[in-house]
Amino acid sequence: MPVDTVLHNAKVYTSRGLVEAGIAIDHDRIVKIAKRPNLPKASCQIDLKGSIALPGIIDSHVHLRDQELAYKEDFTSGTSAAAAGGITTVIDMPNNQPTTMSAEALRERMQLAEPKILVNVAFNSAFPTHLREIPEIAKIGAVGFKLYLSQQIGGINPDDDQALLEAFKAVRHTKAPIAVHAEDRTMIEQKQKKLMKQRRYDLEAFLDAHSFDAEERAIRRITQLSRKSGGHLHISHISSKTGVNIVLKAKKLGFDVTCEVTPHHLLLTYKNLKKGGNTALEVPPLRGPSDVAYLWRNLQKGLVDTIASDHAPHSLKEKNAESVWDVKPGIAGLETMLPLLLTQVNKGRLTIKRLVQLTCENPARIYRVKDRGNLKKGSIADITVIDLRKEHRIDASSFHSKAKFSPFNGWKTKGMPVKTFVNGQLAMEDGAIVSKPRVGRIVR
Ligand SMILES: [Zn+2]
Repeated sequence: MPVDTVLHNAKVYTSRGLVEAGIAIDHDRIVKIAKRPNLPKASCQIDLKGSIALPGIIDSHVHLRDQELAYKEDFTSGTSAAAAGGITTVIDMPNNQPTTMSAEALRERMQLAEPKILVNVAFNSAFPTHLREIPEIAKIGAVGFKLYLSQQIGGINPDDDQALLEAFKAVRHTKAPIAVHAEDRTMIEQKQKKLMKQRRYDLEAFLDAHSFDAEERAIRRITQLSRKSGGHLHISHISSKTGVNIVLKAKKLGFDVTCEVTPHHLLLTYKNLKKGGNTALEVPPLRGPSDVAYLWRNLQKGLVDTIASDHAPHSLKEKNAESVWDVKPGIAGLETMLPLLLTQVNKGRLTIKRLVQLTCENPARIYRVKDRGNLKKGSIADITVIDLRKEHRIDASSFHSKAKFSPFNGWKTKGMPVKTFVNGQLAMEDGAIVSKPRVGRIVR
């Protein structure tokens, strides 16, 4: 019996690094990685012409929106953007309308997503109002919990240490990680009030309120608190040198903590923010060149654990609010992350090995995503095929995402995803979506 598909003439990224081989796929699984004469017969043969086959990219920080926020993004537009960007699994964030913060809300969100998705989707939940719901939320299949320290999203006041500790302890029993948006609410609010009294509605004022100190204080506090609970803490979109240092120290002391950076914090500074205006605004905001250099140094040394896009689409109207305090922070990132990172590979700042750790292996490990994040016999056939020589110019107007703007608009990149396989099915070819919804699955 022939297998379904054989991809041949590839450089396949395996545990031994890049090997010249082909990949045999049957149903949704990899059944063999071998040189051509040793591969089984297949109904469909695809010549990858020497391209590199990476494990499917897992973007562990994505806001897919939909439901009452479908005007910003919906499950189909968001997962099309992911497939176009070479991403095979996204992990969704809970700040939706309604908020993903109960077993019922999570179940409903999963049911809505299932018929509409082109890549795999896993879900984070916010803390529920009643902690007794945490085991059920985990049982339904939330892969993690997300806590915002900058505002209350979910059932727990982020300034209440005791309540947070109880929640962290309850989550620990489920073994799920807790991802944290680490900016101190009180510090930001106080500063913002003061600035608003001075009639400050500009970007500088926003940077002033979302200060380094607000990030530092939040990371310090939550790291200590998480340590007491014994659970796994994952700091989202770390942006500053001081923030990184707290995490490094905690790691040295043996705390169970990991951290994430975004492409925008790695490639842009506040100068780009001033140039790009409110549409380029995100939180934590862009920092200075010395912070960017420090993030890179630690990323290269292996001390940063994941890169994720923090894809956070909004309508253009929301981005162009007159007062900076009304601007919705966040940018589209699914379609730019991999081309930007591959450009850095071509520049010698990132190795393929490190890229796979940061965007495949580590997210799969942290969120306990089974049978994905690596290419080997028995794994699910999520495969991102890249052409390292392919040049491209980022054009936000052609995004599959509904958010058709980007601070990277017009940037030249080198290195592109050229094919995305999701659960053994071809979902994207040369930028075009070639599969229908339902190819993606809910990852639990
Ligand atoms: Zn986010």
